Amino acid sequence: MTRLFGTNGIRGVVGQDMTAELAVRVGRAIGTHFGSGTVALARDPRLSGPMLARAVAAGLMSSGLEVVDLGMVPTPCAQYYVHTHAGLKGGVVITASHNPREFNGIKALDAQGMEMAREEEEAIEALYFEERYRAADWSGVGDLRSDPGAADAYMRGILSHVDVEAIRKRHLTVVADPANGAGCVTTPYLLRALGCRVLTINGQPDGAFPGRLPEPTVEHLGDLMRMVVEAKADLGVAHDGDADRAIFVDETGAFLYGDKSLALLARSELAAHGGTVVTPVSTSSVLEDVVREAGGHLVRTRVGSPIVARTMLAQGAVFGGEENGGILFPAHQFCRDGGMTLAKMLEVVAKSGESLSKLAASLPQYHLQKQAVEVPIERREATLQGLLGLVKGRKVETIDGVKIYEPDGWVLVRPSGTEPLFRVYAEARTAERAKALAAEGADLVRRAVRG
Ligand code: MG
Repeated sequence: MTRLFGTNGIRGVVGQDMTAELAVRVGRAIGTHFGSGTVALARDPRLSGPMLARAVAAGLMSSGLEVVDLGMVPTPCAQYYVHTHAGLKGGVVITASHNPREFNGIKALDAQGMEMAREEEEAIEALYFEERYRAADWSGVGDLRSDPGAADAYMRGILSHVDVEAIRKRHLTVVADPANGAGCVTTPYLLRALGCRVLTINGQPDGAFPGRLPEPTVEHLGDLMRMVVEAKADLGVAHDGDADRAIFVDETGAFLYGDKSLALLARSELAAHGGTVVTPVSTSSVLEDVVREAGGHLVRTRVGSPIVARTMLAQGAVFGGEENGGILFPAHQFCRDGGMTLAKMLEVVAKSGESLSKLAASLPQYHLQKQAVEVPIERREATLQGLLGLVKGRKVETIDGVKIYEPDGWVLVRPSGTEPLFRVYAEARTAERAKALAAEGADLVRRAVRG
């Protein structure tokens, strides 16, 4: 069967594959799947958001569901709302997360506020493709009401999980760059509640994303890095378009790679509680070192945040996340949360009495090297099989692609989920060794693809 949901919901270019008709049908399918009850609806500030949200709402209501419209809020805020309202069946968020401005998407949430499990998505896909929609009669059509209180409740929830007094005492200066995205309505206020001096850049919601592209990568954060230095701030924080990710800039204006923030936060979470940490197979060894040192246990998964979240739930993990800044704190909720990640990072900085750059320098240092090798889609499976043959006898991990361990590093090769290529990630203690391992990984893919 053709799939509707990708790894992170339904995504498409507005007016081409992401249309009002699609949104109505998806709303009908989700409504039919839930059967009855109430669902929350939210969106990021993309220009097509109001149009798609109304179309999804119409589909949901036509199947008999009640809709609570939360308006324009971060995805984790909508997830927290569903998570903390026991009566809700689930939720729908209109967002394309970190994708460029021409995209939008539809994300479905289950009753716990988590991204839906694959089985539930398949049930909705079956209803959609077979057009088996429930059509409520005149008296059964659902109602729509608004709840403007979701953002405040979400911020109160975050504040209940950090040492607010310890953070307030440091009087930190923070530059926030929410990318003109949904984080504009929460992050500056959250920082103010934590006693910070707050400066913002790209701080007004604008679906045209006039300031920068919504993905918080080093290439897109030049303005933030400069502003942190000029304002003599303690740190900078950047979100993606729906603020489920947080990436940091230290007080020297240096971009802090996501594996380092992940390691700093893991160290602090394990110090408090011990326990299990979950991350994809592609994450840096720095996390492994930190978790081992803290007496914790690291579980590796396939790449993708819903898989990380589901594994965390199954394993009763205390912490988890990905190197792209998508980090989960299960005591708060089982989903990536940019606001929560920010509050926890401020707590780490405040309690250590150190600067962010010093904290990052205290971590084991690794070098990561990335490459990509073109592989036609029809050769993907054969290439994977070929790789397994080529690495016979070596220490490998096959959770997602093939990861080869060497005494002084590792190389992972895995097929891209969306493009006709294999990604190669290599890591070692020196840049030269990482480069050599990446070259070996790329070479193995080229040999495997030839068969
Ligand atoms: Mg996102």
